[in-house]
Amino acid sequence: MAVEVHRRVPPPQVAGGAPRRRTAGGEGERVRVRVQAGDALPLPIRHTNLIFSALFAASLVYLMRRWREKIRSSTPLHVVGLAEILAICGLVASLIYLLSFFGIAFVQSVVSNSDDEEDFLIDSRARSTQAPPAPAPCALLGNPAAAPEKMPEEDEEIVAAVVAGKIPSYVLETRLGDCRRAAGIRREALRRITGREINGLPLDGFDYASILGQCCELPVGYVQLPVGVAGPLLLDGRRFYVPMATTEGCLVASTNRGCKAIAESGGAFSVVLRDGMTRAPVVRFPSARRAAELKGFLEDPANFDTLAVVFNRSSRFGRLQGVKCAMAGRNLYMRFTCSTGDAMGMNMVSKGVQNVLDYLQDDFPDMDVISISGNFCSDKKSAAVNWIEGRGKSVVCEAIIKEEVVKKVLKTNVQALVELNVIKNLAGSAVAGALGGFNAHASNIVTAIFIATGQDPAQNVESSQCITMLEAVNEGKDLHISVTMPSIEVGTVGGGTQLASQSACLDLLGVKGANRESPGSNARLLASVVAGAVLAAELSLISAQAAGHLVQSHMKYNRSSKDMSKAAS
Ligand code: ADP
Repeated sequence: MAVEVHRRVPPPQVAGGAPRRRTAGGEGERVRVRVQAGDALPLPIRHTNLIFSALFAASLVYLMRRWREKIRSSTPLHVVGLAEILAICGLVASLIYLLSFFGIAFVQSVVSNSDDEEDFLIDSRARSTQAPPAPAPCALLGNPAAAPEKMPEEDEEIVAAVVAGKIPSYVLETRLGDCRRAAGIRREALRRITGREINGLPLDGFDYASILGQCCELPVGYVQLPVGVAGPLLLDGRRFYVPMATTEGCLVASTNRGCKAIAESGGAFSVVLRDGMTRAPVVRFPSARRAAELKGFLEDPANFDTLAVVFNRSSRFGRLQGVKCAMAGRNLYMRFTCSTGDAMGMNMVSKGVQNVLDYLQDDFPDMDVISISGNFCSDKKSAAVNWIEGRGKSVVCEAIIKEEVVKKVLKTNVQALVELNVIKNLAGSAVAGALGGFNAHASNIVTAIFIATGQDPAQNVESSQCITMLEAVNEGKDLHISVTMPSIEVGTVGGGTQLASQSACLDLLGVKGANRESPGSNARLLASVVAGAVLAAELSLISAQAAGHLVQSHMKYNRSSKDMSKAAS
């Protein structure tokens, strides 16, 4: 369920209303899609218009005739038979349809011309000022590559209406009832508006219905990404083959090498220290003194049970764990933390927070809710609060790499690795003023796994916070390596996780969907796998740098032999 970020407290969500729109629930929720009930037509527009126009005319003519006859025969007008009742119903229904169809279309065209935030794709002003001019028809004909896809006449009309700004692009799915067709029409309109071919962006081979109202609006195709697999990653006694979606050469190979070193040394071990998603609304009071009163109320342990009862009403899985407050003058930031089962949990926590805000409003009527998200959460932004307090899953993963493995697989030695880690990942990052960036490339692995498994890739910002520690153990012979990652934000239900490709990758890891016996354990296991893969990749990259192999391997795996000047536009 999407929870919008409002300046004031929004009204409670009404179940079973407009089509359910689920997003990953982060800061990107501010862009709303206006889909109106009047847009949902089961038949093509042309046919529906014809039917209702004919119904309107027939009912009107019939009723007028009947009324003329009644006046002539002095029959009271209010005495009506079944046929007249039906004609009146037909007249009213067709009138409502015609008024709402043409009326709404007219209002929408006026509104959409002044609202380029939501209708950027077809905004005619944007076209005239920003987009390159559409190619002349003869230019299109003269260039076989630019020849438009032959469309049915009916679709041609809709494309023309979208290009002219008469039909908003975002209503195509609900109006046509066919998501693939809607995407094809939008794509053709885009091609005509911009004059740009997007042949490399495939249209077919994707289930557009699966993203409707959940994952992506205004689709015109999909991007293809290769998925590589690193492993087996021997973690907590189990073997995982880790899917990674990336276009960066070397990344999967390097992670794979780290997995090999870990497996040959007996495996890695992980601990999930914390599991709680956060949301921090900001409220304002007339005075700082009043804001402090609410802070005291929320942080008083005696009030926790009451708050938890109110908060937990929102979901079977969201369970309040605590509230931490911070103040800036008379503004109060309340950071709520809750468990979220196998969901990443942003929507879940937001709904619980909304319940609490509604409840507090009775006892604190002077509380002005500025926003349900006040950035103390902190979602998709680099912030010390996540680094220190944690957000999502806080995981530590460790392994002891044997001396011979360091030599044979990693082609370096323990002393060099420990020294490099101190100078680069600890001192170097301190010099850079890093915030949670005490690692070599955790975000590489986090992002690749996030994309493969349908996580919100924008959350790689905090999910990649990581400190990598390397120490010599067993009298200096072996290497102890660990990664500590306080805010890995992952889920195995909701968001992009249910899409076909992403859910196949979750299945490969054995963490697809909800865990019925122990809700939350699939998501926690996924977080452990992320940390384990980061451990492997850190080990491999630091080794490559210690051995001076980094540049050679990148020249081999990460450099195209193609002439790049030919790829330029
Ligand atoms: P998010 O908060 O990550 O955006 P949502 O709250 O929108 O995710 O989606 C989670 C949905 O999945 C909720 O409706 C929840 O009731 C349902 N669900 C089913 N099983 C589980 C589970 N094991 N853990 C969490 N949510 C679950």
